[in-house]
Amino acid sequence: MNDINQMTWQATNDRQRKSWVASANEPESDFPIQNLPFGVFSNSQNEAARVGVAIGDQIVDLTVLADHGLLSHKRKTFARSSLNDFIALGQTEWRALRVQLSSLLDAGNAVLRDNALLRQTVMVPQSDARLHLPVDIPGYTDFYSSKEHATNVGTMFRDPKNALLPNWLEIPIGYNGRASSVVVSGTPVKRPNGQTKLPEAERPAFGPCRKLDIELETGFIVGTNTRLGEPIQCEQAEAHIFGMVLLNDWSARDIQQWEYVPLGPFNSKGFATTISPWVVTLDALEPFRCAQPEQSPAPLPYLRHSGRHGFDIRLEVDLHGVGESEASTIARTNFKYMYWTMAQQLAHHTSSGCNVRVGDLMGSGTISGPTSDSCGSLLESTWNGQRPMTMPSGRQRTFLEDGDEIVLRGWCQGDGYRVGFGSCAGRIVPASESA
Ligand code: MN
Repeated sequence: MNDINQMTWQATNDRQRKSWVASANEPESDFPIQNLPFGVFSNSQNEAARVGVAIGDQIVDLTVLADHGLLSHKRKTFARSSLNDFIALGQTEWRALRVQLSSLLDAGNAVLRDNALLRQTVMVPQSDARLHLPVDIPGYTDFYSSKEHATNVGTMFRDPKNALLPNWLEIPIGYNGRASSVVVSGTPVKRPNGQTKLPEAERPAFGPCRKLDIELETGFIVGTNTRLGEPIQCEQAEAHIFGMVLLNDWSARDIQQWEYVPLGPFNSKGFATTISPWVVTLDALEPFRCAQPEQSPAPLPYLRHSGRHGFDIRLEVDLHGVGESEASTIARTNFKYMYWTMAQQLAHHTSSGCNVRVGDLMGSGTISGPTSDSCGSLLESTWNGQRPMTMPSGRQRTFLEDGDEIVLRGWCQGDGYRVGFGSCAGRIVPASESA
């Protein structure tokens, strides 16, 4: 174990590292040895949900590794239906486990590599596993931190000359979302019913949403409990973040337009939010850190941090339309365009004295880029339905139809490898009878 004790967590990001799990070394694998994202899974041989780590096309069952004394934690830390107990141990333990796993999975380490019997119980093929919601989420907050997105929406609904409201460049704008309806990738999404009001109608009607949309976002998972009244300082905020997921903030635009004044979205957002099953740690993302966009005016002192706090994460949205023979990529953008950083979002959230809890989910806000093919919502790419898109079959399309499937994908591109998020998928099913 000496080499493990001497290995730093930074060495786990060395791009030269290879694993004895052959599929992890393929350049397009989302889960090379440099990633090691955490999730919760079960399979037909063992239906108990437990903590695992993705490597190539396999899952490492941490309960089995712990049983064999190969980790510094006992089985009970990982024999859980959520990551919360492990996350609550704190950054030092996240990093210590990352070092242990990186070593055990390294091409040069024989402990598992040459023990076929042990490997059979430790390694579970992802194709045989069911992935669960990875975190028990006490609270969900959604921000609005893409300048391109806020500008597009402001241009559409207000005034192109004053697209950004005066507070936007001063505050990482956010609202408290709904945690109970956050679901894992693959969960069907039922079209919501709600109140909508056509401009010419005297009163609203209740019925199925007609402008069902996506929001391409990432989310971060809070890694610490804080005390009421004790803000997180911006400079230290990243140490309070465990990792990131892909997030689709499904949105009912017609319901939203009628309900959002004066307190913001409610039923138009609260019916479902989908996240990807693997939590990619901030430590795995470290090599892909980049500068955030220049912020002008300079933020107030409590929102200032030195150094680079952006991350170069490529993002794509695929739409497989109902009745279409193939999926089409309808957006390509990047997390690095985000104006406000995750650290600033967390510092702002707690600046009032509001506490956070392990497992809290913070949505980035819709991530749009500078070009028309980098819009993170259909609202923007179809300009509120005025500019339909053409599907592979030649049909025209604006918002989502029943049977449509949306898949978000994200990855950091390294030199010969990628640190990926897997996918975040959801298919639309018809609304309940609204009678
Ligand atoms: Mn959103």
